[in-house]
Amino acid sequence: MKKFILLLIIIFGCKTPENKSDFMKQKIVIAHRGASGYLPEHTIEAKAMAHAMNVDFIEQDLVLSKDDVPIVIHDIYLDDVTDVAEKFPTRKRKDNRFYVIDFTFEELKTLQVSERFDPKTGEQIYKNRFPKNTGNFKLHSLQDEIELIQGLNKSTHKNIGIYPEIKEPEFHKKEGKNLSETVLKVLSDYGYKTKKDNCILQCFDAKELERIRVKLKSELFLVQLIEFPEETKQLNYFATYADGIGPWYKQILDKKVDGKFTFTSLVFDAHELGLKVHSYTFRADALDEFSSFEEMMQTLLIEADVDGVFTDFPDLVVDFLN
Ligand code: CA
Repeated sequence: MKKFILLLIIIFGCKTPENKSDFMKQKIVIAHRGASGYLPEHTIEAKAMAHAMNVDFIEQDLVLSKDDVPIVIHDIYLDDVTDVAEKFPTRKRKDNRFYVIDFTFEELKTLQVSERFDPKTGEQIYKNRFPKNTGNFKLHSLQDEIELIQGLNKSTHKNIGIYPEIKEPEFHKKEGKNLSETVLKVLSDYGYKTKKDNCILQCFDAKELERIRVKLKSELFLVQLIEFPEETKQLNYFATYADGIGPWYKQILDKKVDGKFTFTSLVFDAHELGLKVHSYTFRADALDEFSSFEEMMQTLLIEADVDGVFTDFPDLVVDFLN
């Protein structure tokens, strides 16, 4: 009799219909530039904090240094998150900007990293975040960050993934550099080779992401980022090489009807093609059309049914999904 009951539990236990909590658990939280709502973006401190918040993935934006080290930084420029203009005043280009690619990794490590600011006015972008030009933060490589995350995974018995982005491949090519090849080699060296390896690779440049799949034969989970509305019409093409899309959330929202949000067909169409949808960027201090962060999460994660979100405030999204 006991065996029979156990059998019933096994059969029906596995076949319970999808309930609310299963639905929530399928959603993923990506720490956008780390826990960047609380610490300067892409610092190792912001990544450690994100890890402690139990996110699913931590993001790395990648730009090559002069000596071909993949640096974790959001842009090809240095002057809006570091003190490069004071430390190396003569090293700017004609456009008055300082480029990561013009400095060696050794030089880059001497810079102080700050909360993001406007290089023209010096004004901090997000006023209520970590105070500008305080603390002692540095730039680091992709290798440094993988070792941090893999080390923390071991010491905390977690399995948090990485979510690297290939930044401006055309710019790198013009500078005579192979960013994608360099990044894929590092990822492979650290055990990220297939879709099972807890790594999602993202890029805005569709030709480059397609090249990563077809020419470079990557077997990683690939996400095509979408910047412009017209790109949302290319889903069939994206589905030939990518596993998911990363649209701006505004491409998911349609008109408001009687005070309620309606949605474009983007999420539905992507799901029909088997593509996951990871939308950016969820910021509790930049809500735009939403009256609260709660409303933003409810609208996009539940009503629009996106599969994951990039957020500067990972703790809030993790709490919401729990
Ligand atoms: Ca990014």
